[in-house]
Amino acid sequence: MIKISNLKIPLDYNTKTLEKKVAKRLRISPERIEKLTIAKRSVDARDKRDVHFNMTILVQVGETEKRVGIPRKDNRISRVTEQLYTVTPKKLKERPIVVGCGPAGIFAALILAQAGTRPILLERGQDVDSRTKSVIKFWQTGVLDTATNVQFGEGGAGTFSDGKLKYGKMTPLKTKVLTELVEAGAPAEILYFGKPHIGTDRLKKTVKNLRSKIIGLGGEVRFNATVTEILRKDALVRGVGFVENGVYNQLSANNVILAIGHSARDTFKNLLNSGIFMEQKPFAIGVRIEHPQEMINRIQYGDFASHPALGAADYKLVVHLKKGRAVYSFCMCPGGSVVGATSEENCLVTNGMSEYRRNGRNSNSALIVTIGKEDLGSDHPLAGIEFQRRIEAAAFKAGGGGYKAPVQRLEDFLDNRTTTAFGGVEPTYRPGTEFTSLDSCLPGYVTGSLRGAIPAMDAWMPGFAYPDALLTGVETRSSSPVRITRGDTMEAIGIKGLYPCGEGAGYSGGIISAAVDGVLCAERVLGT
Ligand SMILES: Cc1cc2nc3c(=O)[nH]c(=O)nc-3n(C[C@H](O)[C@H](O)[C@H](O)COP(=O)(O)OP(=O)(O)OC[C@H]3O[C@@H](n4cnc5c(N)ncnc54)[C@H](O)[C@@H]3O)c2cc1C
Repeated sequence: MIKISNLKIPLDYNTKTLEKKVAKRLRISPERIEKLTIAKRSVDARDKRDVHFNMTILVQVGETEKRVGIPRKDNRISRVTEQLYTVTPKKLKERPIVVGCGPAGIFAALILAQAGTRPILLERGQDVDSRTKSVIKFWQTGVLDTATNVQFGEGGAGTFSDGKLKYGKMTPLKTKVLTELVEAGAPAEILYFGKPHIGTDRLKKTVKNLRSKIIGLGGEVRFNATVTEILRKDALVRGVGFVENGVYNQLSANNVILAIGHSARDTFKNLLNSGIFMEQKPFAIGVRIEHPQEMINRIQYGDFASHPALGAADYKLVVHLKKGRAVYSFCMCPGGSVVGATSEENCLVTNGMSEYRRNGRNSNSALIVTIGKEDLGSDHPLAGIEFQRRIEAAAFKAGGGGYKAPVQRLEDFLDNRTTTAFGGVEPTYRPGTEFTSLDSCLPGYVTGSLRGAIPAMDAWMPGFAYPDALLTGVETRSSSPVRITRGDTMEAIGIKGLYPCGEGAGYSGGIISAAVDGVLCAERVLGT
C-alpha cells in the first residue's frame, strides 16, 4: 500500500477528484488505482479565502504497485503495510471482573471477552435506556437519581456528550477501538476524520451493541451493582464486595479492573480507607461559554461558513497567564447544549453535549483554569474532591436551588455586574438558570484568570468575546482530581491483580484514551 499525505483537496470533492489528485502525485494513470482509502481528513481554514481539506490517502495499485516509483525526496509519499490488532485466546483460572461500564470498562471487558475469559462487568447505574429516562427527568424536573445520572450508568460519563473522539497519532490499538465503535454503530467517518465525533444519539446505540457483543462472547453485564469493597488476601486480590439492587454480595476473582471514572467519590473514599494508595492530581475548573453557532462558523470559516461539507465549526483556545495558570477551552460542543451533570445532591455541575448532526443553535465549551496542589490547602489525597464539592455546592446555592445554574452575560462578567436580561444568546441549560455573579461560587483566582484570559482569546479568535456570550457555572468535572497510582505492571501499588484504569484512575482523559487504557489493562490481565 502507498500512503500519500498532505493532499490539498477542495471541499466539493468526489471519488474522481481524489483519484485524479492521487494519480497526479504518483505520476500514474487513474486507471491503475485499485483501491483508495481516506486515512485522515482535516479542515484547513488557516486562510479564510481558501478553506479546503487536507488529506492522507492510502492507495492500492495491485500487482504493479512495486513498480510505482516513490520519489526519494518526497516525504509525503511512502510505502506502508497494514498492521492489525489481534486478541489471542487465553484461559484464566477465574473469570476477571471489570468495575464500571464507561469506555475504559467496556473496552477492557470486550478484549477479555474476545480472549474467551468471560468477564463480569459490574456497573452501579442503569442500562442506557433506563438511564436516559432518569437523566431526562433530572433535566426536566431537577429530581436527581444519585445512582444513575450523567456520570453514572451504562456508557459512563461520555454517554450524554458530544462524543468527540480525540486520538492523535493512529496506532493499531486505536484503530481497534475505532473499528469496534464503527461495527457497533458509530459513523464510519470516525476512522478518518481529523476531529471525529459520534454524538450522544448514536453513542447510546453504540454502547448497547457493545454490551450485546460482550454478552455474546460469554461475558456478563450487571447493572445496579455498586462495588463497595476490593477483597484481598494479603497483597493479592481475591474478588469484590458489591451491592446489587440493594443486596450485598461477593464475587471471587484474582483479576479486577477498576474503571470507575472521576466521579465515584464514595468509592474513592472506600478504597482509600481500605489502604489503596492514591494521590492528588492537578485538574481544572471554570464555566461553560455559549455563543451562537453561526457566529463561530463565520469566525472560523469566513465566507465558507455555510458550506455543507464543513458542518458546525469548533475552536480550541489556550492562554498561559503570567502568574503561571493556564486558561483553556475544553470539550467544545458545536451545535450542542450545556447539560446539568451532577452525581451528588445539592451540587451543581455543568458539561456539554451534542447530537450527531450538531444542529443546535448554540455552540458551547468549557473555559477552565488549572488548579494545583497549592489551591487545595491540604495534602489529603481526596482534597481535590472536597474542593470540587465546595464549589459545586456554592453554585447550587447561587442558582437558588432546584439545580438552576448561575449565569452571566460575558460583558457583565468582565465588568463585574449582575446580568438583568439575556441578549443574543439564550441558555440551553435545563432545568433553568438564575442571573447571579459567578464570583459568588468560584474562587477569585479562577474568575480573575478568566477575566485575564478572555481578551487574549478574543485577540486570537476575534469575536470570541461577544458581549452577549453566556457564561454558565460551574464546570468542575473536566478531569479526575485523584490518581490511584499504578506500578510498572499497571497494578495498584502493592496489590497484585488490581488494575486501576481509565479516567478515574488518573491515567486517561476522554473517551478514546479511556478506551485505550481499558484495552491496555485487559492485555495485562491476559499477560500479552
Ligand atoms: C457530559 C460529558 C461530556 C463529555 N464529552 C466528551 C467528549 O465529547 N469527548 C470525550 O473524549 N470525552 C468526553 N467526556 C469525558 C469522557 O466521558 C470521559 O473521559 C470518559 O467517559 C472516561 O471513561 P472511563 O471509562 O474512565 O470513566 P467513566 O466514563 O466515568 O465510567 C465509569 C463508570 O464506572 C461506574 N462506577 C463508578 N463507581 C462504581 C462502583 N463503585 N461500582 C460499579 N460501577 C461504578 C460509573 O457509573 C460509570 O459508568 C465527557 C464527559 C461528560 C460528563
